[in-house]
Amino acid sequence: MHYISTRGSAPVLTFEQAMLTGLARDGGLYVPETVPQFSPDEIAALAGLPYEEIAFKVIRPFIGQTFDDTHLEKLIERAYQGFGHAARAPLKQLAPNHFLLELFHGPTLAFKDFAMQLIGQFFQASLDRSGERVTIVGATSGDTGSAAIEAFRGLPNVDVFILFPHGRVSEVQRRQMTTPDDANVHAIAVDGDFDTCQALLKDMFNDFAFRDRVRLAGVNSINWARVLAQVVYYFSAATSLGAPHRAVDFTVPTGNFGDIFAGYIARRMGLPIGKLVIATNQNDILHRCLTTGIYRTEGVLPSISPSMDIQVSSNFERAVFDAYGRDGKAVAQLMDDLKATGAFTVSQGALQALREVFDSGCVSEKETSATISATLAASAELICPHTAVGVAVAEDHMGTNPMVTLATAHPAKFPDAVQGATGLRPPLPPRMADLFDRPERVTRMTNDRAALQALILERTGA
Ligand SMILES: *Cc1c(COP(=O)(O)O)cnc(C)c1O
Repeated sequence: MHYISTRGSAPVLTFEQAMLTGLARDGGLYVPETVPQFSPDEIAALAGLPYEEIAFKVIRPFIGQTFDDTHLEKLIERAYQGFGHAARAPLKQLAPNHFLLELFHGPTLAFKDFAMQLIGQFFQASLDRSGERVTIVGATSGDTGSAAIEAFRGLPNVDVFILFPHGRVSEVQRRQMTTPDDANVHAIAVDGDFDTCQALLKDMFNDFAFRDRVRLAGVNSINWARVLAQVVYYFSAATSLGAPHRAVDFTVPTGNFGDIFAGYIARRMGLPIGKLVIATNQNDILHRCLTTGIYRTEGVLPSISPSMDIQVSSNFERAVFDAYGRDGKAVAQLMDDLKATGAFTVSQGALQALREVFDSGCVSEKETSATISATLAASAELICPHTAVGVAVAEDHMGTNPMVTLATAHPAKFPDAVQGATGLRPPLPPRMADLFDRPERVTRMTNDRAALQALILERTGA
């Protein structure tokens, strides 16, 4: 299995190389050269299996020779053993023909754990073999950072540094990053906003001498291995609801387009998914693009679903690549347009191809809160604000297929928004009820790349 770049001019890589590289050298994103196909019989055989067994069957054809079968089985087993639910990704019925896929039973209470826990295992296995060390540096608005720390804490060949904007993450998110006491975990509160953190990160990756010296690695959501891990729960959910004998629709609260792109891959593998519905908050670039054909960045508006407050939806490039018949030159041109003018226009043919698979909707702040309280009243379920964005859009897109809305975070991760909407403050699950009693460990920094790099050199001894 080979991986190619969406911009057509980076080296072709194996799964392992694509995972360790992250972003392609031509600025593109890696995608599989061909998508493995599952027959209806193979899909039917997944129904009712434990999550780990479905994961093994779905992931195996994508990884080539990277891990043998026994090894892969073991890595998947370890990745999900810390989840707080035996089904890993349980379905819950919300209304007639409408189901929630609960993706928040992992160690940091958001769906990011599904991918991060697995790539933590994959990275460590790969580094064990090569004897190498890497330094993972990530920038986060909250959920990715805690998921990465939880996945890489205590691993012998990895140091993990997470930059988060000081004072701009929820208290639960901050404590999940600052309370792990492993020596290889470094939480760094930067004076600035998320863009400040991301710019620092980018500059470090562009400092090649530094990058090579500490062997920087990236685990943000454009990493193909993360997308792959997320394909699995589309199979587990759809087969539970009758696939392949019945098609299923999905609505996905969307920011960087990673989670919904995983659903698109499942569909291309042969899973009968009717529609994939993009649900955005007031930062609605994807909804506008699907509606008008013009992808235009605007300023980010802070919302009560902060993990979806983004301007440039990186993984969308992968869908655009397919919509343009996998023409890397055309994609590179669109991305140049975006850089130069803040916008690009999707061709009529490509827009039609996107609309055959994707539908979309956007939700205001008021509607998000109203959906949290209406869902509690109608179904006795407390949902997080991101999930509420999904539920509101799904209700507008119900057809004859069962609709599955992805519940991307636990309500206790965003207690203020939930309390604001319902008057109820959702408690943390018992297994992490002591989060507020654990001591915090954090380094505060100004927006100073030289100081940050000095700190990384000192802590890693590189
Ligand atoms: C990251 C995140 C999202 C958005 O997912 P993408 O893959 O970036 O589209 C939605 N909800 C929550 C809770 C998240 O953490």
